Formats: sequence, structure tokens, C-alpha cells
Amino acid sequence: MTFELKDSSLLKAQAFINGEWVDGDKGETFAVTNPATGEKLADVASVGAAETKRAIEAADKAQVLWQALAPKQRSEILEEWHRLIIVNTEDLAVIMTAEQGKTVAESRGEVAYGASYIKWFAEEGKRVYGDMIPSTPDRRGVVIKQPVGVVAAITPWNFPNAMITRKAAPALAVGCAMVLKPAAETPLSALALAELAKRAGLPAGLLSVLPGMDAPAIGGEMTSNTTVKKLTFTGSTPVGKLLMKQCADTVKRTSMELGGNAPLIIFDDADLDMAVTGALAAKYRNSGQTCICANRLLVQEGIYDVFVEKLAAAVSGFRIGNGFESDTTHGPVITEKAAKDIHAKVQQAVEEGANVVIGGQPGAQGACFYEPTILTNVNDQMRVFSEEIFGPVAPVFKFSSEEEAISMANDTEFGLAAYVYTENMGRIWRVSEGIDYGMVGVNETAISSELIPFGGVKESGQGREGSKYGLDDYLETKYICIGGL
Ligand code: ADP
Repeated sequence: MTFELKDSSLLKAQAFINGEWVDGDKGETFAVTNPATGEKLADVASVGAAETKRAIEAADKAQVLWQALAPKQRSEILEEWHRLIIVNTEDLAVIMTAEQGKTVAESRGEVAYGASYIKWFAEEGKRVYGDMIPSTPDRRGVVIKQPVGVVAAITPWNFPNAMITRKAAPALAVGCAMVLKPAAETPLSALALAELAKRAGLPAGLLSVLPGMDAPAIGGEMTSNTTVKKLTFTGSTPVGKLLMKQCADTVKRTSMELGGNAPLIIFDDADLDMAVTGALAAKYRNSGQTCICANRLLVQEGIYDVFVEKLAAAVSGFRIGNGFESDTTHGPVITEKAAKDIHAKVQQAVEEGANVVIGGQPGAQGACFYEPTILTNVNDQMRVFSEEIFGPVAPVFKFSSEEEAISMANDTEFGLAAYVYTENMGRIWRVSEGIDYGMVGVNETAISSELIPFGGVKESGQGREGSKYGLDDYLETKYICIGGL
């Protein structure tokens, strides 16, 4: 083991079902490895449909009591969970870097970011207001909001902590119970969060964590079980579509946070240094593995060359390596397969005429590394234009007019985040309103926090996470007509 924890009891390798740490029924396990070194970190219990069904039944029982508590009582438990996460930041960050690869500094940032959702929804859960609707003199219309009930969640590996807290916090705050399947690459962060929830006093059954190798078995039970009223998913668009289809049979509500293909549009009138700084963060954060990473850099022709020069100068200062080493600026990508997929996209672009300004090769540090890369002379026929790269590769496209930039930005089935750099106020409004995205960062790429509604349009998904709007995903609206007055 390459790391030590202050509190080694946060490292769990069993499933967490109905408040208990348990092995899978069949005694099966799967290995979790460190992508930087290939070292095995743990053999984690692998559960399937039967265990998932039991977790759902426990959630159903626990949810009834949980829903009946005063919002303030639920809030106090969430506040305590938040406090314990902050106190254990260092251990949670170390576990995350070990299983996911991001630098420890990035992991600490994610722990704080993830915890912020718990704090926010501990507060916001106390403000689930309804409405009174005036109608005729002998009746009143009352609208109340109630928890949807048992929620199933499926989360990805790129943010092993925050993608869970963003779902669990609003769900629990309004009185739902959750059964969660974390990504098989990063179950340890999820299990540590469950342990802290237990210590915070969260009653058994309200948050079960179901690690497993057989995602379709767990997902199949979650989507077919009639007790589950809602599925919330963050992951790839193909899997999201499949899960939506599966949910159709029982008409479950869904929230989907799927793939992106974010354009970062830089106009001639932009503050160039600010745009370079923004592009570096938006493109290379988490080694390019976030769904809001800038996928396509669209740069106006007047500043194209100088922008590429400045970007390349900054990227040449990156140091890829093991996330535990203090001089590492960027960690590995999640798997060897991911590194190969990224390289295939780069190779296809190069074969079709792209120039490699910097990088363009797998990293020498290990099987899961890829060099930070910049490509020019790229076009919309290349996979780097149409597909989510999910790696540290920046293709820089050239445009001439505002209309062309908007059209290129919208030329995708995705619509999650987009970024615009310009100093022209009219253009800020025209472009922000003209592009089909759920989130637009203007002269800023660090756009996410617990305060804002995070989510996409088109095939990037539905529903919003965070902010006052984030509660709606876990609430039903009920109309009560009081007559005979
Ligand atoms: P990525 O490409 O980022 O790994 P995926 O969509 O494949 O994205 O994975 C996101 C989450 O969805 C993970 O927890 C994964 O295990 C889960 N998953 C993948 N396929 C299925 C499936 N058929 N049913 C349920 N969950 C799935």
C-alpha cells in the first residue's frame, strides 16, 4: 500500500447495505487499482441484483420514518455528515488520489466541493415551500411538495466523491432514501462517505452503497424495481439512454447528467491572458476528464496564432505523474483503455492533417498516462470535434465571424457547458443566448459550485444538481383541493 490514513477504518472493502458492512452473497470481489502505478489497493465486495433488491427494501422501510421527521432533524444529521467529511478531508483526499489518480491538491478540492453540497442542502431542505391557489369562495387549492421516495443513483469515477454528495444530499434533505452504485474504478471514496454518514447518525437503510463488477445486474434491479421511484445518473450518454429506456417500463422519473462537448469560444476582442488561463483550467483539469471540460477550443482568426503560442508555452510547464508527488500538476487518466482511446482520436486527427503543437503521445510514466496535447489545423470532420475526448487534448479550431462561432458551438448533439471569452457586452448576451447549452461561462471557466444549477440540455441530459433548483429533482408536486368551505 502506497498510502497511509490517519483513520484506517475509513478504508472499507465491503458493501454497505441497510447500515451494515457486508460481503456479496456469492463472496465475489473485484480489484481496485491505482491508475498511476497499477498497484492493487483493495479487493472490494461485488454485489448483484439480489443484494440491490435487499437494499431497496431497506430503503423503503427507512424512508417512511425519515420523511416523517422535521426537516430540521434531517438537516442536523446532514450538518454532522458535512462536519465529519471536512474533519477527514486528508484521508478522503488520499483515498481518492489512490483510486482515481488526480493530484492530492485536486482531491482535497473535490472533498471540499463535494461537502459543500451537503452543507447547502442541509439548509435548503428546510425551505421546501408550497403554494396556495385562489379559486372559488368555497374552495382552496393547496400545493405541497413531497419526497419522491426511494431513489437509485449511479455515479462515475471522475469525481468519486462530489458526484455522490450532489445526489445524496438533496435526496436525503427532503426525505428520500438512496441506494447508490458507485463506479467500479472508484468505490473506496463512496464507501468512506457511507462510513462517515453512519457515524453522523444517518439511520440504517437511508444510504446503501452497492459496489459491483456487474453494472447491468445492479442497474437492472434499480430500474425494474417498482419501489424505486427515481433514478439519478451521471455518466456516459449511451448508458444514460439505456437506463432511461429501462426506466420507461415503470415510468420512473430520471435525472441524467451525461456527456458534454463543451466549446470554449475566444473572440478577437477577448482578454487573451484571461482566456489562456481559463482554457488551461477548463481543458486540463482532472487531466481532461470532466464532463464540462472544454472539448473544442474555437478561436477567432485574428488572435489564433498568438493564442496557440501562449497556450503551448503554459502547457509545456505541466508535469504529469503520480498524484501523490508534490511536483505533479496532472495525474494519469483512469485506465489504460482510456489512454488508448484518447490516442486513437489524436491519431485519427493527425492522419487527416492535424498538426501536433505539443504532446500527441501516450505518457512515458505508465500505461494510464497521456501527454498534455494541443492540435491545430483541425476540422469538424475529426472525432476531436464531434466526440467527447475525456483526456488532456486541446484541438484548437479557427473561426472568422460570430455567426460561425455560434453555429460551430451548436454543431453537436451535446449541450452541457460552454465558455465564451469576449469584452463586448452585446456579444456576451447574443452568444450566451444563441448557444444551446445548460451552462455558459463568460470570461470564466470555474463555473461549478453548490450554489448554481448544474445540468445540460439536448443529449447531455435533464434535471439540475445544486442550487435551489436541485431540490426539485427529488420532489413531487401534489395538489390538494379543499372544498365545502
Ligand atoms: P464512463 O465511460 O465514464 O465510465 P459509464 O456511463 O460507462 O461512463 O459509467 C458511469 C456509471 O454507469 C458507472 O457507475 C458504471 O458502472 C455504470 N454503468 C455502466 N453501464 C451500466 C449499465 N448497463 N447499467 C447500469 N449502470 C451502468
